[in-house]
Amino acid sequence: MRINTNYLQLQDSYLFSFIAQRVSEFKQQHPQKNIIRLGIGDVTLPLVPAVVEAMHKAVSEMGSADTFKGYGEEQGYGFLREAICDYYAGKGVLLDKNEVFISDGAKSDLGNILDIFDVNNTVVIPDPVYPVYVDTNIMTGRKINFVNGSVENSFLPLPDENTEGDIVYLCSPNNPTGAVYTKEQLQLWVDWALERQAVILFDSAYEVFVQDPNLPTSIFQIPGAKQCAIEFCSLSKTAGFTGTRCGYTVIPQALVRDSVPLNKLWLRRQTTKFNGVSYIVQRGAEAIFTETGLRQIKEQIQYYLGNARLMADTLTELGIWFTGGKNSPYLWLKCPNNMSSWEFFDFLLTQGNIVGTPGAGFGANGEGFFRLSAFGNQDNVAEAMERMKKIL
Ligand code: PLP
Repeated sequence: MRINTNYLQLQDSYLFSFIAQRVSEFKQQHPQKNIIRLGIGDVTLPLVPAVVEAMHKAVSEMGSADTFKGYGEEQGYGFLREAICDYYAGKGVLLDKNEVFISDGAKSDLGNILDIFDVNNTVVIPDPVYPVYVDTNIMTGRKINFVNGSVENSFLPLPDENTEGDIVYLCSPNNPTGAVYTKEQLQLWVDWALERQAVILFDSAYEVFVQDPNLPTSIFQIPGAKQCAIEFCSLSKTAGFTGTRCGYTVIPQALVRDSVPLNKLWLRRQTTKFNGVSYIVQRGAEAIFTETGLRQIKEQIQYYLGNARLMADTLTELGIWFTGGKNSPYLWLKCPNNMSSWEFFDFLLTQGNIVGTPGAGFGANGEGFFRLSAFGNQDNVAEAMERMKKIL
């Protein structure tokens, strides 16, 4: 028996445990200090009433012999896939329900999708990045070419004549940078992919935060994308489903490689290795896309964006360079006074009792940058911003 030695190539995922350890040490030394956490990527508001009501009803159905459900469709219940198709129609994207796969969240599908691609494909990954794209490819031993995010390109790297690869990961609005690609910029990636028959893996987990009507919320709003892209979305940040678990993946029938529709491969993969998301959760997810559900989640998104605005205004006032915060719950700032990411982390923790996330944890290009998250409580965010103004 041999282990998969690719796993030994993975770097220890120390970022959040290291942060927790530093904060816990500081707390022990200064028990009277009120620490404000602006580092977490988890939501804090509860499920909206429309979702709770739908899930209660579904629980009752499961408790009654005449409405009980056993195994469901691996691809997801038709009612939820239809609701998602309607949601996309509202964005001007027409989908067939067979193109939508319900998942237990975007993270699983982003990792599992690699099952349908040859291991010899080269992947293109922006740096800085959500670490899952990198680690899942290291686990399978794929070659990775990084494309660089920087202040110069506003952390929105674009392809050029040197960009080589078969699969590219794009995330917009981006975690960790909060940056959002324009339609014109995404068109450049779509053209790049079509030209070399590559595939774009588009992560739209934060699409609901986009407020500017000119910015895209789906790769399929870009002409040609149905021939070269797969979209992964999550209800985690859309509707507070981080603990409830539901998302979806869209694979258009028009996406064909080696004369095989990728939709067919993914369906085969899912029907073999996945038994679907619980009926109760899918009924809850369906409720998000009703008129009431959408109104209720929009209120939550506005609450988080209010936090982001507060942070953006403070950074602007302090003359600190940043991206994000307008169409995204994340702000990505340049550490003041040329501090490194971890120096700034320590500075904020010890001087302001504020916790954020060092950019260096998201890739080499994150060094010297810092991520703030808007998923906290508004009073705490306001207090944290007052403290930042005092210490910077
Ligand atoms: N994609 C990005 C960019 C994320 O930031 C996250 C979660 O933080 C996910 C995907 C995973 O979401 P899920 O909770 O649906 O697995």
